[in-house]
Amino acid sequence: MVATKPAVELIAVSKRYPNGQLAVSQINLRIPKGSYCCLLGPSGCGKSTLLRMIAGHESVTEGDVLLDNRNVTNHSPGERGTALMFQNYALFPHMTCLDNVAYPLKVAGINKSARLEQARELLAKVNMTDYSNAYPEQLSGGQQQRVAIARALVTQPRLLLLDEPLAALDHARKQEVLPWLEKLRDDLNIPMLYVTHAVDEVARLADTLVVLEAGRVKACGPVSEVLKIGRAS
Ligand code: ADP
Repeated sequence: MVATKPAVELIAVSKRYPNGQLAVSQINLRIPKGSYCCLLGPSGCGKSTLLRMIAGHESVTEGDVLLDNRNVTNHSPGERGTALMFQNYALFPHMTCLDNVAYPLKVAGINKSARLEQARELLAKVNMTDYSNAYPEQLSGGQQQRVAIARALVTQPRLLLLDEPLAALDHARKQEVLPWLEKLRDDLNIPMLYVTHAVDEVARLADTLVVLEAGRVKACGPVSEVLKIGRAS
């Protein structure tokens, strides 16, 4: 059987912060193309550090990061073609939803009519067309997060990295945004790496699960198998 090429490959990746803290230790990981992978683990186990190293927002102390078989360990975030989305949606308050979504394309030098057209398409995908001209403060937390998802996807990244994207939302708002993430997972063929400490999000969204503990991989594989092992141990 021919193994699927990995979208992300980590080879013996470690991170030691300048204060001496070893946040991530000797991680080896292959995330297949088309996979929706969750990184699960308690607070402080190194999830965000690992995600930031893949995105290029954090330097790697040792080891290599490969995206689509390209060694990007020393590449800037822009050169990697990844998009990173955080729990605090960080929309620009002085811009409309449409301009927020179009902004990454403006930075990339895309002309106005093309970028607005692409931004409209993405807003439609998260059912926010009616709010195109609204400002972030006029939206609920769940709606803002949907606009943030559209903005993260508008550049058609090779890999979407989500750092606890629902953690700041209450239960009701979380239930509002989860179906959109599910829909986008099904509609777009972009691999996603999703950091969370919530098992319910994993069970609903992911096909692959990586469990981290104290900066090391404790378990990795199809979600149902890894969760079964977790329950048994
Ligand atoms: P998680 O996302 O799983 O909560 P983090 O990756 O944020 O974990 O943190 C992993 C470890 O690295 C923790 O012990 C944390 O205190 C430490 N850490 C994170 N960021 C820094 C930093 N900038 N400087 C020093 N230590 C850090």
